[in-house]
Amino acid sequence: GHNNALDYLKGLNPEQRLAVETTEGSVLVLAGAGTGKTRVLTTRIAHILATGKAFPSQILAVTFTNKAAREMKQRIGILIGEGNVEGMPWLGTFHSIGVKLLRRHAELAGLRSDFTILDTDDVVRLIKQLIQAEGLDDKRWPAKQFAQMIDGWKNKGQGPADIAEGDARAFANGKGRELYKAYQARLQTLNACDFGDLLCHPIRIFRANPDVLKEYHKRFKYILVDEYQDTNTAQYMWLRLLAQRPQPSRQSSSTAGLQSAEGRKDDRPSEPLRGPRGGPAPAGAEQPVNDNKVNICCVGDDDQSIYGWRGAEIDNILRFDKDFPGATIIRLERNYRSTAHILGAASHLIAHNEGRFGKTLFTDRDDPEDDKVHVHAAWDSEEEARAVGETIEAYQRQQHNLNDMAILVRASFQMREFEDRFVTLGLNYRVIGGPRFYERMEIRDALAFFRVVAQGADDLAFERIVNVPKRGLGETTIRQIHDTARALRVPMLEAAAKLAESDELKPKPRAALREVAANFERWQKALETTPHTELAETILEESGYTDMWKNDRSVEAPGRLENLNELIRSMEEYESLRSFLEHVALVMDAEQNAELDAVNIMTLHSAKGLEFETVFLPGWEEGLFPHQRALDEGGRSGLEEERRLAYVGLTRAKKNLHLWFVSNRRIHGLWQSTIPSRFLDELPEAHVEVAESNSYGGYGNSYGGGSFASGRGGRQNPYGASRFDNVGANSEKSGAFSNTYATPGWQRAQANRTEATDRNWGSRSG
Ligand code: ATP
Ligand code: MG
Repeated sequence: GHNNALDYLKGLNPEQRLAVETTEGSVLVLAGAGTGKTRVLTTRIAHILATGKAFPSQILAVTFTNKAAREMKQRIGILIGEGNVEGMPWLGTFHSIGVKLLRRHAELAGLRSDFTILDTDDVVRLIKQLIQAEGLDDKRWPAKQFAQMIDGWKNKGQGPADIAEGDARAFANGKGRELYKAYQARLQTLNACDFGDLLCHPIRIFRANPDVLKEYHKRFKYILVDEYQDTNTAQYMWLRLLAQRPQPSRQSSSTAGLQSAEGRKDDRPSEPLRGPRGGPAPAGAEQPVNDNKVNICCVGDDDQSIYGWRGAEIDNILRFDKDFPGATIIRLERNYRSTAHILGAASHLIAHNEGRFGKTLFTDRDDPEDDKVHVHAAWDSEEEARAVGETIEAYQRQQHNLNDMAILVRASFQMREFEDRFVTLGLNYRVIGGPRFYERMEIRDALAFFRVVAQGADDLAFERIVNVPKRGLGETTIRQIHDTARALRVPMLEAAAKLAESDELKPKPRAALREVAANFERWQKALETTPHTELAETILEESGYTDMWKNDRSVEAPGRLENLNELIRSMEEYESLRSFLEHVALVMDAEQNAELDAVNIMTLHSAKGLEFETVFLPGWEEGLFPHQRALDEGGRSGLEEERRLAYVGLTRAKKNLHLWFVSNRRIHGLWQSTIPSRFLDELPEAHVEVAESNSYGGYGNSYGGGSFASGRGGRQNPYGASRFDNVGANSEKSGAFSNTYATPGWQRAQANRTEATDRNWGSRSG
């Protein structure tokens, strides 16, 4: 029931309202975190619908995740009434909209409309076949690597004909291009496509079939895009094709007055939007076409671009006014999400990046009761998890909901310690955007090995890993093992051992089975004599499982190895393999229910766009955050992307923000002392409160006092005093803040390089 159709406009500030009501033409909202960009998009859709400017089916709205799409639909429903949102078929992610387009026009891409979408495993298997068919050595030219190259090309919208000579030569003795072509041809015969094709096929279809494109130009009266800073080149091309209608007539800027909304400080309406990183147009970009009738609204924040490593092009947002001349650029400066302390901390941190527009952010929230940003030190990650758990329970006692709290980690392996701790405490939690630690593929595999060793009759576990890594044990052999087991009424492992000694099998599978049986026999014997963590490591090594991931060239592989290391590490806390497995069974059983009041755990990458009352950011140490690999790969730009990720993390918090760093982490089985993240030093003192360190566990004095740096076997913080060096000791508080901005972070990165070269932290997104 809605009385006044325009009620939804009332809560908006003038700039937001401008962004909502400027429905015609092109609008870019470029604004910092929590300023209401997503809210503007939602309200804009509501407005378009409520004023009858378009039907739901005439609006194309792109969100970054499916979850965000669902939420947006819900919120529009709240604004203008549920019944009016039905049938917004074109609200979704780039991929989900891409599938829909491709199903409609599959034949134009040489597919049938019932095509299948291959997952990464399928793709790799297919490429491997192609590599072998070419007579190439698939060890020297790994399929995974080529799959990734193809993915990279598709992110740039490049087909086999478009790829750079050098790229094409780099793989398989110069056969890169042919292989790519063969791959596409094979997909076509299979009536299949991969994820990249969901965008690339529509782009090709639109280019080759102007009449089809025209149909969509007619259909989509309004286009809206959230998180525009993280679009990649293919997404950008796709959008441009849909947004720009060729028209011979020239036109002039239509923005006069619109940009100068009250209170804008840098009012430069005619100056092109130029970013410090502004580069040339991406390859394949069309010439700008002037057209008044393009109704497109993109919102984003250059400071929150965190997917550069996956091909996102920040330049897309920086060149918006070149693509859409006469675009209205709107800045929102009021942050509605966070306290002044949180906002102050985040703004100050991101100001350390050189490649940015720079923007003002303010908040009206000025409550002297608001806490400063808390920085805590812990001895190691176990203590970190324990302390976070205690803090959560303290909030709970003050009637805070668990749902309103989130732990955002840099790398997924960090989750394990928290999950374990929460299970012990009986705190509900959910992992968002990925499986829980013990549900990850590599962890399940490893656990399956351990289970068979601990309990030889665990057939489920045995079946999972009997052919992992691949040893040529096909379905037929597995069936034979089954049959034998059933006939002899013994577990599969025993049946396998029997089969391996019989002559029922062909030589190859027989040899493979014999090895499997011998392995397990040896490990089971060792169970009585070898410490269980050592045995676990041995099992993963001797089975070839660790090597399998070491030789794997996919982006996920390093993260999986990290998780395996974390698994071994976690076993130390238990007396035996059996008690550890019992614990895991309990953790796996813990409920993961969306309805339940539960703490949210996720990576920083998947927290984009979300907000929580209370946020915990653990692991702010050099090498973990900023992540060593980002530093190694990207130099300064890698570091700046890490800093943007830190900014995303800080700005998720509405009211309470807790940062943690530990002074010791165990990496690859070795304890290493760690150094507080440079990002901590980049936080402004005025908004930060360093927690009294010896409140948890009393580690402060446990290694002789002094600073973190001097307390660890004489290792010195290589870039001089950090004000966090003294945290954790009972030193004078006043001495804890020193030398804050003397050295820019990226210079210290160099000094710190030797410290951390032996680290191989995991996948960036977890
Ligand atoms: P991010 O960059 O993190 O995605 P955003 O710019 O999209 O942030 P929103 O999520 O849209 O910001 O808004 C942040 C919070 O502020 C939300 O809780 C939203 O409801 C609230 N908010 C936005 N605008 C207003 C307003 N005019 N009045 C009151 N609350 C507002
Ligand atoms: Mg948003």
